[in-house]
Amino acid sequence: MKQDRSISFFERAKEVAPGGVHSPVRAFMGVGGTPCFIERAQGAHIWDVDGNQYIDYCMGWGPLILGHVDPDVFAMTQKAMSKGWCFGTCDRHSLELAELITSHIPWVEKIRFVNSGTEAVMSALRLARAATGRDKIIKFEGCYHGHVDSMLVKAGSGLADMATPDSAGVSKAQANDTIVLPLDNTQALEKVLAEEGDHIAAVIIEPLPANNGLLIQDTDFLKFLEVRAKEKGILVIFDEVITGFRVAFGGMAELLNITPDIVTYGKVLGGGMPVGAYGASAKLMNMVAPQGAVYQAGTLAANPLAMAAGLATLRKLLDNPPYTQLQKQTEKLATSMESLYRAAHPNEKFSVKHYASLFWMCSTDKPVRSVSDIPKNQKVFVNTCFHNLLSKTIDLPPSGFEVGFVSTKHDDLMVQATLDAWKTVCES
Ligand SMILES: *Cc1c(COP(=O)(O)O)cnc(C)c1O
Repeated sequence: MKQDRSISFFERAKEVAPGGVHSPVRAFMGVGGTPCFIERAQGAHIWDVDGNQYIDYCMGWGPLILGHVDPDVFAMTQKAMSKGWCFGTCDRHSLELAELITSHIPWVEKIRFVNSGTEAVMSALRLARAATGRDKIIKFEGCYHGHVDSMLVKAGSGLADMATPDSAGVSKAQANDTIVLPLDNTQALEKVLAEEGDHIAAVIIEPLPANNGLLIQDTDFLKFLEVRAKEKGILVIFDEVITGFRVAFGGMAELLNITPDIVTYGKVLGGGMPVGAYGASAKLMNMVAPQGAVYQAGTLAANPLAMAAGLATLRKLLDNPPYTQLQKQTEKLATSMESLYRAAHPNEKFSVKHYASLFWMCSTDKPVRSVSDIPKNQKVFVNTCFHNLLSKTIDLPPSGFEVGFVSTKHDDLMVQATLDAWKTVCES
C-alpha cells in the first residue's frame, strides 16, 4: 500500500506538533508505523492522501454513529453556517437541543453544553463537590474520563485510598483527592465506602467502560454501586461520553434502568463537531452559574454549528432509531470474526467483545471485566491484526485498547468485505 504522502506529511507534522499529532493515540505509538493523513470521508469510507480507500471502524472515535457526511447533518450544519457561526450569545439551536434531550431523558432536567467530554467531566466533578461539600472522588481503574487532572491518576501501591499521578504535571494534591478502585469488585467498593464514605462527593464510572478495552460490567455491580453510593449521600456520575445516544438514546442509564445523579455526554451528541454536556436534576443544575455559585463558562460553548450538527444527529436517532439494526450488524461482525479466527487457529484464544455498536478484539475467550482480566499479549496481538487489516484497507482503531465502532452506514456488503479481509488475515 502506497503511503508516501502520509509519510512526508507526518515528518513535517513532527516538526510542529508533539509527536506529530494533536491527540496521542493518533500517532500510532501503540501499533507502530505511520498514521494515514485523511483527505476525505463519506458514509463508512475514508480516503487518505495517497488515494487509498478504507472501510472505517474508527469513526472519529465514536461521534459518527450516522457515518461520515450524513446528508441530514450536513444540510442542517450548512444552513446554520450560512447564517453565521459564532454569536457568543443565545440562539435557537442550543435551546432546541436542550429541549430535545431533557424531554426524552428524565434524569436530565437541565443541561449545560461545553466543548468536549473532558470539560463535561471537569464541570460535573466541580458540581458534585459543591453539592455535597465533600472533596474526594472515586474512579475506577480502566475507565477514562478525559484529561482532567484529578482523573489522570492510578491506584497507589498498597493504600487503597491514595491515588498517584498517572501523568507528569498532575500534582499529588489533585491525585490525593481521587480514590481509584478496581472495576467489578464490590468488596473493594464496600470497604472504601465504609472507611471514607463521608468524605466522598461522587463516584464516577463509565457504565460501559470502552476506553481501555471493552470491559462489560455485570449489571449487579452497577446496581450495587448505585444503591450503596446513594445510601452514603454520594452522587453517582455516569460518564456517558462514549455511550450516550450510542447504545440507546438515553445511554447505558436507560438500558440498565439506573438513574445517575449527574451524567456527562460528548461524542455522538455533537455528531462529529466539538460538543460535550453535563446534565442532572434541576435542583443540582441550578447550582451552576449564573443561577448558582458553581462557576463554569465557555466562549464557544453551544456554538451554533456544533449545536446544529448535534440536533440533526439526535433528531435522526429519535425519528428512526437505528439501535436494533446496529446491534445486529455488530454482533454479526463480531461473531463471524470469532468463528473465522477459530477455524484458522483452533488452539488459540480469541474473542470479539461487543455491546450495541461497539466491539473489541481480544486475545482471550474469557469474560474481561477489569483491567487485570486483559491478557498480557493483548497489545502485540492486536498490533499484528491491525496492520494486516489496514493493508487490506480495513481501518480499525490503532491500539489494542481502543474499541471499534459500527455506524448506520456499515451495510451488509461492507461487513462482508471486512470478513473476507479478516479471513485472509487469519489464514495467512
Ligand atoms: C472520549 C471520552 C472522554 C473525553 O472526551 P473528549 O471530548 O475527548 O475530551 C471522557 N469520557 C469518556 C467516557 C470518553 O469516552
